[in-house]
Amino acid sequence: MPFFDFLCEKCGHRFVKRVSNAEKDRVECPECGHPKVKQMLSPFFTPGSHYGPTPSIPDSCAGCGQAGSG
Ligand SMILES: [Zn+2]
Repeated sequence: MPFFDFLCEKCGHRFVKRVSNAEKDRVECPECGHPKVKQMLSPFFTPGSHYGPTPSIPDSCAGCGQAGSG
């Protein structure tokens, strides 16, 4: 069965659930139990890969090292 990415329409909780094509219409939020969840389309949809809800933001240090002003 494939994994599907869902977003709760009530609390905004995002989760991944492995359901069949018929079951994905009957998924409820594991956080608040709300029966209405929106199916997301993940571009990073790769089986067997680690799921990361937050993308890795490059830590840029443009204005670092400015200490003791004035
Ligand atoms: Zn919810």
